[in-house]
Amino acid sequence: MDNYEHSVFLDVKKCIGCTTCLRHCPTQAIRIKDGKAEINQGRCIDCGECIKVCPKKAKKAVCNKLSDMDRFKWKIALPAPTLYGQFENLENADYILEGLLKLGFDDVVEVATAAEIVSAYTRLYLKGENVRKPVISSACPVVLRLISLRFPSLQDNIMPMLPPMEIAAKMARDKAKELHPELSQEEIGVCFISPCPAKASYVKNGFGTYKSKVDTVVSISDLYFELLNAMEHSENTHPLSKSGKIGIGWATSGGEATALLNDAYLAADGIENVNHILDQIENDTIPPLEFIELNACTGGCVGGALTMQNPFIAKAKLQTLRRYLPVSQNFLSKEDSKEIPEDFFFSDMPSYYPISRLSPSMSESMRMMAEIQTLRQTLPGIDCGACGAPTCRAFAEDVVKGTAELSNCPILYKEELKQYLNKKGDTDDSK
Ligand code: SF4
Ligand code: SF4
Repeated sequence: MDNYEHSVFLDVKKCIGCTTCLRHCPTQAIRIKDGKAEINQGRCIDCGECIKVCPKKAKKAVCNKLSDMDRFKWKIALPAPTLYGQFENLENADYILEGLLKLGFDDVVEVATAAEIVSAYTRLYLKGENVRKPVISSACPVVLRLISLRFPSLQDNIMPMLPPMEIAAKMARDKAKELHPELSQEEIGVCFISPCPAKASYVKNGFGTYKSKVDTVVSISDLYFELLNAMEHSENTHPLSKSGKIGIGWATSGGEATALLNDAYLAADGIENVNHILDQIENDTIPPLEFIELNACTGGCVGGALTMQNPFIAKAKLQTLRRYLPVSQNFLSKEDSKEIPEDFFFSDMPSYYPISRLSPSMSESMRMMAEIQTLRQTLPGIDCGACGAPTCRAFAEDVVKGTAELSNCPILYKEELKQYLNKKGDTDDSK
């Protein structure tokens, strides 16, 4: 098991053991024990699906509070492009950026601006030699973790470039140092306004040996009403936004891929679809493609668990906002477009314990696998979840691993009881 620090937690007091999250978790990380959900931390990818479906709001994401920024002398907000799709009648992104300044931030650096730079460098990267295709986007941290845990053979396909949030953090720190050379790096605080818990986990854990340049992560839903109150729709707003259609387009599925101006791409969203596509890349059953954009949430980041707006409505709002923007406000200069700066790359990939591995020993894994298959044949096969596992296959695995008892299956227990009573009846009759 790795030492990943998670952001999705269970409030045990609120959980009624209804099994809804159990049936929706894409990595089968949830079990119901003694009437309460339990998350297997080694399997959880912080996708937030369980937060979205829990009828009792018992699953929650632990992010920072805005007041956690008070310890810094110079506070910078990094709004995710998704934030722009959360408000009614927003015809100008500057209202949001000014609102953030009114909340106490000293500066705002848009992640959408960084996204336009990443798009430009991705176009350059795809033209390079020895690039393993299809290149898989590194923007969605859920996808990165899913690849690490379930598809380690695809790690070399991951785009080795930092995601826009990290590039924005780097830009924000450089700008702060330029404006205030007297500040130390510790006095500069960078806060990402996030649509999803996975970004908060990414900031806590980094990626491989890379450590995030972001200091705190505040959820869009936590900040929403405060920001709404601070926003002023006035004609005297300062022109702060430096993003175009491309950058803001990253909030929705397909936005990153279409910015590559290359037709050989695929964009898929929703964790089930992402799983299928990764399976197909692994099994080499997809057509030749240059680039694959994968977003764990339906619709892309607008579907994140920490947003306020229905993802489809958010997408429509973003379309309206983008209509009058230039395609991009961040093209590379002739000089910049020759080579991608070294500090735009991850230095390595993380190595995790694949969740499908049953034991560190290969022979033991094979033995356990055979036992699971045999046991699976004896189970009802209706995946009812009454045993506390999402499927009969998962239950068989739990029993073989010793984390569940066969008697937890009520159907098997009822069948065995019936057979015992029948047998007993036959014996009594023959007396
Ligand atoms: S969805 Fe999961 S966490 Fe929420 S009440 Fe049901 S079992 Fe508990
Ligand atoms: S966050 Fe996702 S992976 Fe983790 S327990 Fe919830 S549904 Fe499962």
